[in-house]
Amino acid sequence: MAYLTSENKDIFLQLIDNSRNIAIICHQGPDGDAVGASLALSSVLSRIGKSVTVAAPDDVPKSYASIPLIASVRSFFSNRKEVEEALSSADLIFCLDFNSPDRIGKMKDAVMKSKARRVQIDHHEAPTLEVDFLISDPNCCSTAMMVYKVINEMGLGEHIDKLVAEYVFTGMMTDTGNFSYNSRDPEIYEIISHCLRLGVDKDKIYREILNTNTEARIRIFGHLLDKCMTIDNNLRAAFIRLSKADMNAYRYEKGITEGLVNIPLSIPDIDYSFYLREDPECIRISARSKGTNDVSKICAAMGGGGHANAAGAELVTTLDLAEARVKELLTNELANENNITE
Ligand code: MN
Repeated sequence: MAYLTSENKDIFLQLIDNSRNIAIICHQGPDGDAVGASLALSSVLSRIGKSVTVAAPDDVPKSYASIPLIASVRSFFSNRKEVEEALSSADLIFCLDFNSPDRIGKMKDAVMKSKARRVQIDHHEAPTLEVDFLISDPNCCSTAMMVYKVINEMGLGEHIDKLVAEYVFTGMMTDTGNFSYNSRDPEIYEIISHCLRLGVDKDKIYREILNTNTEARIRIFGHLLDKCMTIDNNLRAAFIRLSKADMNAYRYEKGITEGLVNIPLSIPDIDYSFYLREDPECIRISARSKGTNDVSKICAAMGGGGHANAAGAELVTTLDLAEARVKELLTNELANENNITE
């Protein structure tokens, strides 16, 4: 499926032709796909003479430090003035890898205030952001893959070199858990094949981003899985809770528990996994599921959202009440499922 059709391609190209200053923004808690897609697009737009700023609502987690030029991603949290200026002087803002204005947190006002036109490229369900041009594909594994296709459809494929391919590969690899979920589309491997031919060292990128730990990370995983995880066999679910006290005791840092929520799904009879973290202002819930089991509706019922197999929400409450709420919603979900199959 082409994203740029004969009807809309000229409009898209005009938006870019008419823009000198371009800002590329992604969601808070930027992940490998958010920064990979942003830096891939930024590289190509720079090469055709655009002045490009890449900005995220907050800092890029240290686990992505090995990504080339990662320091060029400006953080609204750490460099507010600079990002505000880039947004207000932008002619065009690319919104990558998020579907609603809430996903950009405190950066939202600066984005909405800007007179820049907005283009969205994203693979999350049900986009609600108001934009001038929308490219949405919830069936695509990653925004990075969408950006790769858009660059080609714009006729700029010649600018996809090893560096751009590294960014595209990074986004595709991280959003599929190294091609272990959302990764059945054969086109993924055609693109990966192209990346490899351009010289991308996939094993090195995997090792540096997905298979690198600090001692602190291994210890907090050990603690949480041993002492803070409960299994509910009736609900086919695991619940992991990280309290404020444990965050202090284990010197919690942003991003350190990334990937934790997926681990219980490796137990054959566990179809759902929930990770509840006691953040300063709310309980942050990460939800994962296997196969046709859907966590997006459960998270939507708590004001959050996401994909069928990976979603999240925030509740202003206690850990106990948050867990009780998740259990209640999951119980209802399973009851509905039984009604449908009976
Ligand atoms: Mn993504």
